[in-house]
Amino acid sequence: MKGTTFIGGLIVSATLGLTASAASAKTLNVVASFTVLADVVKEVGGDHVQVKSLVGPNGDVHEFEPSPDDAKTLKAADLAFVSGDGLESWFEKLAKSAGYKGKPVVASEGIKTRKMEEDGKTVTDPHVWNSAANVIVWVSNIEKGLIAADPEDAEDIKASAAKYTKELQDLDAYAHSKIGAAPKDKRKILTSHDAFGYFGKEYGLALLSPLGVSTEKEASAADVAKLIDQIKKEKVKAYFIENSNDPRLVKQVADATGAEPGGELYVESLSDADGPAPTYAKMFRYNVDQVAAAISK
Ligand SMILES: [Zn+2]
Repeated sequence: MKGTTFIGGLIVSATLGLTASAASAKTLNVVASFTVLADVVKEVGGDHVQVKSLVGPNGDVHEFEPSPDDAKTLKAADLAFVSGDGLESWFEKLAKSAGYKGKPVVASEGIKTRKMEEDGKTVTDPHVWNSAANVIVWVSNIEKGLIAADPEDAEDIKASAAKYTKELQDLDAYAHSKIGAAPKDKRKILTSHDAFGYFGKEYGLALLSPLGVSTEKEASAADVAKLIDQIKKEKVKAYFIENSNDPRLVKQVADATGAEPGGELYVESLSDADGPAPTYAKMFRYNVDQVAAAISK
C-alpha cells in the first residue's frame, strides 16, 4: 500500500511540475560585468534570473583582472550582459579564454553617449548609468535580452521592467529637484575620475577630476597643476572620493585648493549588502543626497 501511495505522489508532483514549467519555471543563469548592471538585471528578471556579477562590490570595473573562476562562470552562463562603450575592455579576452560562444547583451545600446578629447583622441564616456534616465534605456535592452532567452516568461519580465522603470523615473525627478535646489554657481564638485559626466549633464552639475574617463591612466604633473588652477578660479568647494578606487590623488588636489571633503560617492560599484549603496536605486539616491548636501553649504 505504501508503495502505491509513493508512486501516486510521484505522478502528482510530476504533473504539477509540467504545469508549472509551462507557466513560469525557467531560471536563467545570467552573468553581468559589474555590480550596478547585475542589480538592474535582477530587478528586471526577478525570479526568472540568477545573476552573478564578475566585478565584485567596491571593485574597479576599469582595472578588473578576471580569474579562471570568472571564465568558468561566464562559460556556464545562459546569457551575459555588459554595459558597453569601452567600459569592459577585458570582456572580449575573457570570453575568448573561457570559450564563451554567446554574444553579450549590450545594455547601453541606443543611449546618446558623451564624447570627449583625451590626449588628442576622441573617447566615449562609458558611465551612462549615473543618469537615471539612461538606466531606463538599460532596462529596455535588458528586458529584450531576457525575453529573447526566456520567451515563456515575457509577461512577468515586462511587468517588472515597467515597475522598475517607474522607480527610475522617480529617482530621476528626485535628482532634478535636489540638485536643482542648490544655487547655480555652487553646482560644481571635484571627483577622482571622470565618472559623473552623465549625472552632471542631466542634473546640471559641473564636474572636475584629475583622471579621465578611466582609472587605468595616470594624471601628469602638468594636468594636476592645471586642474588646481581651474578649481581655484572656479571656486570649487567640495571634493568626493570614490568607493572603487584610490583616493590619494583627489585628496592631494583638494588639499592644494582648500576644497572640503564631501564624502564618498558610489560611481561605478555597489557597496556590500550592509553598506549605503547595495542596490542601484540606493546608490543613486545616496549620491544625490551627498552631492546636494555638499553644494548647498
Ligand atoms: Zn569609471
